[in-house]
Amino acid sequence: MSEHDHHELTCAKVVELVTEYLEGTLDPLDRERFERHLVICPGCETYLSQIRTTISLAGRVTEDDLSVEARDALLAAFRDWSRA
Ligand SMILES: [Zn+2]
Repeated sequence: MSEHDHHELTCAKVVELVTEYLEGTLDPLDRERFERHLVICPGCETYLSQIRTTISLAGRVTEDDLSVEARDALLAAFRDWSRA
């Protein structure tokens, strides 16, 4: 992989990486790209804070909590939040 420098993460990729980010297992390059995406994307910033809240309530997030259906629902909700 030699395309790292200016390759921005997509929202779908951020959602995919969020547990690794919160667990601190993301490699430094991806972590930097993740945080850069949050600055420019309110939807993903909101998503991250929702996951953080879930973790603080439940103690941890499992893969079951982040099922494809849940991710799709959250991604769909971004559209509603952006209107609020
Ligand atoms: Zn995003």
